[in-house]
Amino acid sequence: MEAIEHRLIERSRRDSVDFTKLGFAAEFADHVFTMRWHQGEWREPLIQPYGPITLEPGTASLHYGQMVFEGLKAFRGTDGKVRVFRPDANAQRLRASCERMCIPPLEERLFCEAIDALLRVDHQWIPTGRGQALYIRPLILASEAHLDVRPSREFRLYIMTSPVGGYFADGPTRIALKVEDRHTRSAPGGTGFAKTAGNYAASLLPGEQARCEGFQQVLWLDAIERRLVEEVGQMNILFRLREEIVTPPLTGTILPGVTRDSVLTLLRERGLAVRERAIAIEELIDAIGSEELLEAFGVGTASVVAPIGRIAYQGHEYELGDGGAEPLAPALYAEILDIQRGERPDRHGWVRVVDCG
Ligand SMILES: *Cc1c(COP(=O)(O)O)cnc(C)c1O
Repeated sequence: MEAIEHRLIERSRRDSVDFTKLGFAAEFADHVFTMRWHQGEWREPLIQPYGPITLEPGTASLHYGQMVFEGLKAFRGTDGKVRVFRPDANAQRLRASCERMCIPPLEERLFCEAIDALLRVDHQWIPTGRGQALYIRPLILASEAHLDVRPSREFRLYIMTSPVGGYFADGPTRIALKVEDRHTRSAPGGTGFAKTAGNYAASLLPGEQARCEGFQQVLWLDAIERRLVEEVGQMNILFRLREEIVTPPLTGTILPGVTRDSVLTLLRERGLAVRERAIAIEELIDAIGSEELLEAFGVGTASVVAPIGRIAYQGHEYELGDGGAEPLAPALYAEILDIQRGERPDRHGWVRVVDCG
C-alpha cells in the first residue's frame, strides 16, 4: 500500500461520549480510513476526520445497491493490549462479497493494515469494560455517477469505528423469535452469503413486523419450501439436541459468520458432536415437544452468543426448556470474550495484536 496520509482532527470528541451508556454503534470515533478505486487500483489511502462525505445524487450505489460491508471488533485487554478478532476471516469474506457484487476486492494484507493504522489513531476509543468493544465497519460503495445498470468503474472504501456496549450486562439473556414463513431473506443463486446492502433492506419489513408483535428477531426459512431453518436476524443459529449440535450448512443462502466458525471450532474442541446439516422447522418443533432440544442460540459479532427462549411458528408459541442440561451458551460467550481480551490462550491464532504505542 502507498503511504497513508494522515489528516487528523485537532481535538478528539471522545470526552463527549458516555462510555458507561454505549448502545450499538450510535457514536463514531474521530477518524475514518478511506481509499479510492480509480483506474484499476486501490489508491490514496487516507485517514481523515469522521464526517459527511460528498456524493452526487446519481451515484450508482445509492440507486442499485452495489456495496458491501463487514463487521468486526477490537478489544482492549486487561493487559492494555489492543486485539482485533479474526480480521483475516473478515477480509476473506469481504473478498467473497466483492466478487458477487462486481466490486474490486481488497487484499487481505491491505484490509488488516488499514485497520491497524486506524486503531493506532483512535485506540483511545476502545472501551475497556468486559463485553464492550470498538466495532469496526468497513464499507465499499460504487461511487461513479451513472444510472445505467452496470458495474461502476469507481469505488470508495470507508472504514469507520464505533464504541459499543456489551449486549448483555450480566451474561446473555434469552431472546424471542418469530419464524418468518412469508418473506424470505435470500434465495439459492442470490446474494445471501454476501454482506451486501440489499439483503438488509429486504429484511427490514419482516423484522419490524416481528418487533411490533413482541419478538426480538426473525427466524428465516429457506426461500423454496419455507421449511429449512436458515438464520436468525443478523446471526447464524445453532441447535443443541441431545445427540448432536446442529447448524445449517453454508450452501450460499446464509451468511458465513465468523462467530459461527469460531463457535463450531470451540464446540468441536470440547469433543461435542457438531453437524452442519439442514434442519427443518417441523424437526425443530418436534424436538422442543419431546425435550430433545436442550438449547438454541444465535451467534454473531454484535452479541457473540444470544440464547433463544421462545419461538413462535404459525400462531403457536413454544418455550424452550433446558432439558435439565447445563447450558453451553454462557460458557461459549465467556470463552470467546476471554480470547478476545487476551485472558485465555489464543490457540487458533484468532487474535491480531495491534501495537498502538
Ligand atoms: C454479519 C452477519 C452474521 C454474523 O456474522 P459474524 O461474522 O459472526 O458477525 C450472520 N448473519 C447475517 C445475515 C449477517 O449479516
